[in-house]
Amino acid sequence: MQKLLEIKDLNMYYPVQSGFWGTSKEYIHALNGINLDIYKGEILGLVGESGCGKSTLGKSVLRLIAPEGFVFFKEENVLDFDSKELKQFRKQSQMIFQNPYSSLDPRMTVYSLLREPLVVHGIRNKQEINTRIHRIINLTGLSEEDLKRYPHEFSGGQRQRIAIARALILQPKFLVADEPVSALDVSIQAQIITLLKKLKDELDLTILFISHDLGVVKYLSDRIAVMYLGDIVELAKTEELFENPLHPYTKALISAVPSIHKKQDEKINLSGDLPSPKNPPQGCKFHTRCPYAAEKCSQLQKIEPEIVKISDSHYVKCNLY
Ligand code: SF4
Repeated sequence: MQKLLEIKDLNMYYPVQSGFWGTSKEYIHALNGINLDIYKGEILGLVGESGCGKSTLGKSVLRLIAPEGFVFFKEENVLDFDSKELKQFRKQSQMIFQNPYSSLDPRMTVYSLLREPLVVHGIRNKQEINTRIHRIINLTGLSEEDLKRYPHEFSGGQRQRIAIARALILQPKFLVADEPVSALDVSIQAQIITLLKKLKDELDLTILFISHDLGVVKYLSDRIAVMYLGDIVELAKTEELFENPLHPYTKALISAVPSIHKKQDEKINLSGDLPSPKNPPQGCKFHTRCPYAAEKCSQLQKIEPEIVKISDSHYVKCNLY
């Protein structure tokens, strides 16, 4: 498969003030040397608990924040782009968020919201603008009538359709969808997920789909990467991950996905909360909650497990393998 994006040694630190006067500076290590390829035409699911670094990774690959490392797009490092190159990259890569209302200007009609990115990127021919707008509203299930209305006049699901239409109006090749259905009712979630799948096929998109809900990610993704405290701890094709989950954290997440075939006692309950990323556990970061933790996994040894290749499409970061 052809790579669209190649992420190498990606680190992101957020400075936080601490101490009584807020004078000392500590760092949250949100991404810990991430290595990940995203293949052209795939939907790659990224799952993990909230606070594990998923959104930071999504924003980093689009350079909406400034991480350290390498994000190769068409063999060029996005993190080295100047403003002109970045503008071109923005045309080809877009993001949709959990709350579309905050990303849609309430004073603009849907028509203006869809027209604006085109004008910013130099498309001023009225006929071309209208052709593109009409094509995208048809694809996203909006109507001609909707173009005259304002974001507050729509339901949450319809607003997410508008946000998707706005993200796709520039005909990008890569889309980061950050928890795009988490704030929606279950029946509406299914509609938006089906829409994203259809758009991926019709527009030849590659999607990084971020969610805390493994059930949603399973339905949509070709491959899944599982994140824990800034690390990718397991990566596999979706079927392989569900048939043969290896990392104890992945097993716990899968056991929590509701299923009529599953008995209640099959659920693995993790002890404790996600540790603070300000002061993550040394050794394996998961050892404080892992039912299989051994001495070599703990603080004493201060050695992180290596990433192990199980097959060409399955990788895990755990001392058990
Ligand atoms: Fe559990 Fe040890 Fe594997 Fe970490 S390395 S997940 S603590 S068994």
